[in-house]
Amino acid sequence: MKNWERNIRKVIPYTPGEQPNEPDMIKLNTNENPYPPSPKVAGRMAQINMDQMRLYPDPAVTDLVHAIAVRYGRKDEQVFVGVGSDDVLAMSFMTFFNSDKPILFPDITYSFYDVWADLLKIPYERPALDDNFHIRKEDYYGENGGIVFPNPNAPTGVAMPLADIEDILQHNQDVIVIVDEAYVDFGAPSALELLDKYENLIVVQTFSKSRSMAGMRIGYAMGNPVLIKYLNDVKYSFNSYTMNRLAIELGVEAVKDEEYFQETLRKIIDTREWTKEQLRKLGFTFEDSKANFIFAAHKSVPAAELFQALREKHIYVRYFNKARINNYLRITIGTREEMEAFTAFLKDYLN
Ligand code: PMP
Repeated sequence: MKNWERNIRKVIPYTPGEQPNEPDMIKLNTNENPYPPSPKVAGRMAQINMDQMRLYPDPAVTDLVHAIAVRYGRKDEQVFVGVGSDDVLAMSFMTFFNSDKPILFPDITYSFYDVWADLLKIPYERPALDDNFHIRKEDYYGENGGIVFPNPNAPTGVAMPLADIEDILQHNQDVIVIVDEAYVDFGAPSALELLDKYENLIVVQTFSKSRSMAGMRIGYAMGNPVLIKYLNDVKYSFNSYTMNRLAIELGVEAVKDEEYFQETLRKIIDTREWTKEQLRKLGFTFEDSKANFIFAAHKSVPAAELFQALREKHIYVRYFNKARINNYLRITIGTREEMEAFTAFLKDYLN
């Protein structure tokens, strides 16, 4: 190692899902929405005033904060907006997890949590999910420096009942509990209704999945105004102009179009349920998913082999070569046509 290299921060980074770009591909690997954003977003885009791009954006993201607050029946002071929920979560780790005690998150979960914890030198423990990939609430009763988990969990798709989330909150009133609801709109109960009861709760959501705007990078947190103020203080100490003008303006349109939002959700949920039936018939097993993906293992063919075979046909799914889950594929729900092509390929391959 060169001398100048000794003082350099070395980290093991998060590995984002591949972003292939084949014209004929079926992309079921990063849990994007197969439908475009609301047509109102495109309408707004056509009216964007380019001259304004020379000006810095509003550092407080006032318009988008307000639109989100209105949509969820909250006050503006209860909403924080960031560059995708990854940014919101990273800021939240930085702001809320400063104890010497370990923070807790499941052994199988969003693989960015341990990366942020390592980066920020936050100690952590990872209680194991049970054999059916469910979170055991009792594992979160011990002393800790904070808690974070997704609901539904990723990559399993398993949703926790609201009563269990509340139980975890009741046992953890002296630390911050973050519920990462990246996939909640696809059918899991939201912890938002617990916000008024638990002042130490932060709920994080995103425009990347249910609002078809992964490319725009918009995420948000909701919590009590004191927590939101602390989050903003850290944000302003790091990068004050996080949200660009386009994201702010288009985000407002996206959150206002409730009808399109509901219609898109319904299509994806219907296709998910249809896909579950097909996968069962093909010999796959999986826990019930409430997300826009299914985490499935085949009874006889290894996941690594299926992953490769699909890939050769330009059908991309996600495979994690990690303990406990290396025989599973995480399959994002695409359009009905995409899922028909996907299951038709599997039917052919498995026979
Ligand atoms: N949380 C979970 C559980 C996720 O799977 C993802 C998507 N990778 C995110 C947060 C971050 O999504 P985004 O930054 O696009 O909002």
